[in-house]
Amino acid sequence: MSVARTVLLKVSDNQWLRANGTRIPFIRRAVSKFMPGETFDEMLAAARTTAGEGIKSVFTRLGENVKDLGEAEAVARHYVEGIDRIHALKLDCAPSIKLTQLGLDIDRELAYGYLRDLAAACQASGNYLWIDMEQSPYVDVTLTLTKRLREEFPRVGVCLQAYLFRTREDLEDITSRGIGVRLVKGAYNEPAAVAFPKKTDVDANYYALAQIMLGPAARAAGSRAVFGTHDLQLIQTIRAHAQSTGVKLGDYEVHMLYGIQKPAQLRLSQEGALVRVLIAYGDYWFPWYLRRLAERPANVWFVAKSLFG
Ligand SMILES: Cc1cc2nc3c(=O)[nH]c(=O)nc-3n(C[C@H](O)[C@H](O)[C@H](O)COP(=O)(O)OP(=O)(O)OC[C@H]3O[C@@H](n4cnc5c(N)ncnc54)[C@H](O)[C@@H]3O)c2cc1C
Repeated sequence: MSVARTVLLKVSDNQWLRANGTRIPFIRRAVSKFMPGETFDEMLAAARTTAGEGIKSVFTRLGENVKDLGEAEAVARHYVEGIDRIHALKLDCAPSIKLTQLGLDIDRELAYGYLRDLAAACQASGNYLWIDMEQSPYVDVTLTLTKRLREEFPRVGVCLQAYLFRTREDLEDITSRGIGVRLVKGAYNEPAAVAFPKKTDVDANYYALAQIMLGPAARAAGSRAVFGTHDLQLIQTIRAHAQSTGVKLGDYEVHMLYGIQKPAQLRLSQEGALVRVLIAYGDYWFPWYLRRLAERPANVWFVAKSLFG
């Protein structure tokens, strides 16, 4: 992985910047490329706009590693209220949540209780619950809680990361249970002991995993197949594979982040692909934003430009 990526990911863990980085005006200006705003209403306005363009959405309120029980409860309440508001508006916009935002670092059972509340709200409104994947030490617990949740709620999916060596085994297990998978390359700084250090190997693994997701076993189990990537070449290769094996364009989805590859989102959707955009909002955006910069260090140029207004 590039030096710039490693540096940006290390900076994203800096506690002082996590607390204060969002107050720096030129960084606030630069982040608007990836975020419609900090409030739920601003996210909702963006989701309605994209719905008007034929693209459904996923929403996530930024936050992670919550250390306070009251805050975890407030996050859960915020999501349940949001799911209800979205239902009332008849908007197709699914929540995506990080377990450490629900207090996983404080109390696992408490976090599971909140996760259950979200799944129940989704079930009641015909929505779908996505669970994000965080750093590698959280993978086991995230998958354990996802599987437990799936025993009670069918409309649940989890993110899996192609950069981890273990993901092939996890993917086979998760898809066999009919749990949805959003496959991504992986956004964190992981050691070479657990993750492919070379991007070409991550890309190759992504394609190998995509083939399993589109294969007969995963499809027979009813696992929802979502490719969370902006890599247009990879999407094209996956599409060609799907077509050659008789999997229809409407049998899998492509999810991208708000503000990235917008023309491609519109083009894919016009071609009949199921496209969603993940819209992030909230005031705790600094580490998330640094991960977006690390994905494409050329984005640092946008930050530099916004320094000069
Ligand atoms: C819907 C969705 C959900 C995600 N959820 C998670 C999660 O739960 N856990 C997790 O670890 N990661 C998550 N990610 C992030 C993911 O792991 C990658 O870090 C991110 O998607 C960049 O990888 P890529 O697949 O787009 O491919 P890359 O090879 O990194 O990028 C391909 C091309 O896309 C464009 N591009 C990619 N990123 C950017 C950017 N930031 N700005 C501008 N252009 C860009 C560039 O043109 C680049 O050449 C998610 C991503 C998406 C799209």
